[in-house]
Amino acid sequence: MHESYCPDCRSEQLFEQPECIDDHGTDCPDWACVTCGYAVFTGPSPLAVELVGAAARRVA
Ligand SMILES: [Zn+2]
Ligand SMILES: [Zn+2]
Repeated sequence: MHESYCPDCRSEQLFEQPECIDDHGTDCPDWACVTCGYAVFTGPSPLAVELVGAAARRVA
């Protein structure tokens, strides 16, 4: 678990890793706020994550 800013709670909250269903193993980038359940994706590069999201939107 680690502490991070939760935009839903608008404060620092503890985040925990939910059960990984995508076979990421120990590198699973998925985190969820333990207070409200807000899900965040903390990959190694936030920029890369944004690019992936933009590409996905173009495809869809
Ligand atoms: Zn995962
Ligand atoms: Zn929260």
